Amino acid sequence: RTVYVNGDYLPETEAKVSIFDRGFLMADAVYEVTSVLDGKLIDFEGHAVRLKRSLSELQMAEPCSKDELLEIHRKLVELNGIEEGLIYLQVSRGSDGDRDFAFPSEDTKPTIVLFTQNKPGLADSPASKKGAKIISIDDIRWGRRDIKTTQLLYPSLGKMMAKAAGCDDAWMVEDGYVTEGTSNNAYFVKGGKIVTRPLSTDILHGITRKAVLRMAAEAQMVVEERLFTVDEAKEADEAFTTSASAFVMPVVEIDGVTLGDGTPGPIAKRLREIYLDESRKAAV
Ligand code: PMP
Repeated sequence: RTVYVNGDYLPETEAKVSIFDRGFLMADAVYEVTSVLDGKLIDFEGHAVRLKRSLSELQMAEPCSKDELLEIHRKLVELNGIEEGLIYLQVSRGSDGDRDFAFPSEDTKPTIVLFTQNKPGLADSPASKKGAKIISIDDIRWGRRDIKTTQLLYPSLGKMMAKAAGCDDAWMVEDGYVTEGTSNNAYFVKGGKIVTRPLSTDILHGITRKAVLRMAAEAQMVVEERLFTVDEAKEADEAFTTSASAFVMPVVEIDGVTLGDGTPGPIAKRLREIYLDESRKAAV
């Protein structure tokens, strides 16, 4: 693989970042994952805008312009021959060569790293045809989940708890209400109505969420943004999640309770089709 580090395109084995980098020492870093279909970027604009906001919320400098970012994404797709896959982008605060809680001096350059993940068959994945089995777990993350930081230890533990329970993923619950999945936004459908948690600092403002809610409205589907419990979701006709890396993923089981007939529901399937179709057309 050819990867990108601070202005250079290098073989992955030659790419280096300081051990003092605050991304490494303190998870003082933000990231984005953009999907690639037909060799093109899905919703690059959405990811670029969210990255800018994450950086600004943490008073971190922008490593380069949006146009430069687009060029780096495109060049990596080309150099690595990606038709379907993902591009991971991370910006960390860098370092001035030592460890300290206080930020390094103003002139410290952020560290920017990008790499591709080749995933042939991403859009047509067997997992999306089977649907996901979900467990619910406590949400014990910090309070600024709208900032896309690399503090992913708890979501990672959550995925492992799901695996240990023979499931695919976990939805997190705070004060009795579902916040989101470990790496996706959560929805259920009851009587034709799509329900999902409203945006706040409690959840990540998913790029896929925004696109899917717009497309659902355009397809005359009814969407209600409100808090919901795991029990409500268990009694739903169907459920699904959205993320840039898995698009619209049907959910067929929650805490051992089968939804509908245990196969992906019609609304989740239709939204997945619409999303893939429209995203491919708008890809850059
Ligand atoms: N919530 C969390 C916690 C996530 O990690 C992600 C994926 N990064 C999402 C939601 C979905 O966001 P997006 O649609 O922008 O991938």
